Amino acid sequence: MNGIPQNAYEAFGISPEICAYGEKIWQELLQTRFPEIDRISELNQLKVLQAFQETKVSEACLLGTTGYGYNDLGRDKLEEVYARVFRTEAALVRPQITCGTHALALALSANLRPGDELLSPAGHPYDTLEEVIGIRPSVGSLAEYGVTYREVSLTAEGGFDYEAIRNAITPRTKLATIQRSKGYQTRPSFSVEQIGELIRFLKECKPDLICMVDNCYGEFTQEKEPSEVGADMVVGSLIKNPGGGLAPIGGYIAGRKDCIERAAVRLTSPGLGAEVGASLQVLPQLYQGLFLAPNVVSAALKGAVFAANAYERLGFSVVPDGSEPRYDIIQSVTFHHPEGLIAFCEGIQAAAPVDGFVRPEPWDMPGYEDQVIMAAGAFVSGSSIELSADGPLRAPYSVFFQGGLTWQHAKLGILKSLQALYDKNLISMDAVLHL
Ligand SMILES: *Cc1c(COP(=O)(O)O)cnc(C)c1O
Repeated sequence: MNGIPQNAYEAFGISPEICAYGEKIWQELLQTRFPEIDRISELNQLKVLQAFQETKVSEACLLGTTGYGYNDLGRDKLEEVYARVFRTEAALVRPQITCGTHALALALSANLRPGDELLSPAGHPYDTLEEVIGIRPSVGSLAEYGVTYREVSLTAEGGFDYEAIRNAITPRTKLATIQRSKGYQTRPSFSVEQIGELIRFLKECKPDLICMVDNCYGEFTQEKEPSEVGADMVVGSLIKNPGGGLAPIGGYIAGRKDCIERAAVRLTSPGLGAEVGASLQVLPQLYQGLFLAPNVVSAALKGAVFAANAYERLGFSVVPDGSEPRYDIIQSVTFHHPEGLIAFCEGIQAAAPVDGFVRPEPWDMPGYEDQVIMAAGAFVSGSSIELSADGPLRAPYSVFFQGGLTWQHAKLGILKSLQALYDKNLISMDAVLHL
């Protein structure tokens, strides 16, 4: 395949039929897609490097602090770098932000007050936000603090229902949350341009509405970020795209100065804000991970495009499809039966550098209503910028595949997933050989 002797893949249990199929997909469908992915990666690499240089990141920035973390140069400069990359006034980037859900909960709870209403104008939010908001009753939810919630479903075509959105905005509507990526849904992810259009409309309806974008999985997949088209806050996880696979923990919020300040005092304490919070020993990975992120994201995008085309050709429904532009690194494949979802995850797990020998099983994961199966043999536990796949055990049994620190590894993962389905007779020999 691609000048690689077949026995190199046979050593991983990939049969000649699957190898030939992968080669066919590459030849016919992928070669033309990769240059655009490389172009966006190059632009974002320049953007990130420029932010480093303009911030005057120095060797001293890589040293950490302990205790209170007063005058933590590296932490403060890293936040400046993030603010430059996202073109915002300020940013909060901390190992004390434990994950993406925490970053989102922080941004929301910091900027909403009792009596305010939160609006989701782009349909139902990510599973873990249900408990943050209180859609599913939960201790400590925004609902418990007297923040109400309203949601406007997407239109049947997956677009924004502008009329319904206008009608949903009241004098109490304080903040709108917009999720860029589809998460565990089969709707399309939104482009930065679409998000910009939605924000323009929201601000027309209510100029002081705070517009927050859940940016998880979207960073560096396009030339611009949502904060460049009007978002007041963009929020994400460092064990996804912007951590570049190296960040061992953390989340970020980048945005308007007042929004970030409220988040900082909520994270630490009124009066203390962003001035405390020792960076410990993680700064080198947070800096270097951000530096590598545009290239790592391009590898993940290539893997996603390969998966889309390989599974689309076999007759599965895939979102996005094989030829659509990409607005995040997530690829969904719908199997309509649990066996397909499970086999796919087993294949991905079998390609992992860590825990490649274990078999993933569905489990009751905290924050999720249904059982979830996850394939992740990652250097950073739970990191989904590394090659990973997961999905809730519910109809239509879609897997959500993402990540791959290198394109070569993502490719092997997809081949292993195909092999796992093939071995269980879930894809037909004919389909594989004669397409
Ligand atoms: C991953 C994700 C989250 C939550 O992030 P965690 O780090 O898993 O808590 C929120 N929203 C979206 C769209 C995501 O993909």
